[in-house]
Amino acid sequence: MKVQNSLFLLLGFLIVGCSTTQNTTSTNALPDDKSVQATLWVQNSAEYQALSVQAYETAKRNLSLPLEDSFWTASITQEETESYMQLPPAIILDIDETVLDNSPFQARMIKQGKSFNVEDWNAWCNEGNAEAVPGAVHFTQYAAEQGVEIFYISNRAYEVEDATRRNMIELGFPVSSEMDNIMLNGEEPGWTSDKIKRRQLIEENYRVIMVFGDDLNDFFPAKNTTQKKRADSVNRYSNYFGKKWFVLPNPVYGSWENAMFDFQSDLTNEERNAILQERLDTRN
Ligand SMILES: [Mg+2]
Repeated sequence: MKVQNSLFLLLGFLIVGCSTTQNTTSTNALPDDKSVQATLWVQNSAEYQALSVQAYETAKRNLSLPLEDSFWTASITQEETESYMQLPPAIILDIDETVLDNSPFQARMIKQGKSFNVEDWNAWCNEGNAEAVPGAVHFTQYAAEQGVEIFYISNRAYEVEDATRRNMIELGFPVSSEMDNIMLNGEEPGWTSDKIKRRQLIEENYRVIMVFGDDLNDFFPAKNTTQKKRADSVNRYSNYFGKKWFVLPNPVYGSWENAMFDFQSDLTNEERNAILQERLDTRN
């Protein structure tokens, strides 16, 4: 009976498998929602968990180096000055997909057949129910215990700051009660999505020893930067990664997408699919 069941199951898979293959071949189209596989990977793979832990554990093991070396800075603008050496150490982290895992929001959007929109996003943020990215709480607590000031720079809207703060405190992240170490988009004049002003403000008062993010823009301004320039930047700063800069995996969304479409925002689905087909490199 068991063998029979297995055979039926196998047959079922084969039928489904064939029809999927036929569909894919006949329409030559990628699945409508490209975030399905990425979201499943974040939520189900031990490999996602391991990559995140790898980033935070590497940082923890290396933390004594910048604390003993006052020349050490993870800021490419601070590097060109001298006064930073006397300043107390700080670490800057992005929030979304760096310390908070918002994959349940993405899962909801998929199940509801929606794409990203600010209203649903802010509602999710206001629930304050995000889980921590693996390794992030342990690392930030450890760094704070070593006397390092922790700052979170995020492009969440300032309207969701209270809920974000609550969420992060509940998870155990170091959140200051004496000063605002959660710096959100639009909270102060000039605090725009490029994060430049917020980074400057921290750099005036602290020596930035490490930076964490899931997007190139978390490390330096990379808006409207072509794919080629993005790749060149990674090569130029290769000695920063894994030492001063730590990248968290985010296959669901990011500035890499707009770069892939050459920053064309008014494309039809057909045009987008055509570009995606082109971007699949087959080396022939
Ligand atoms: Mg992020």
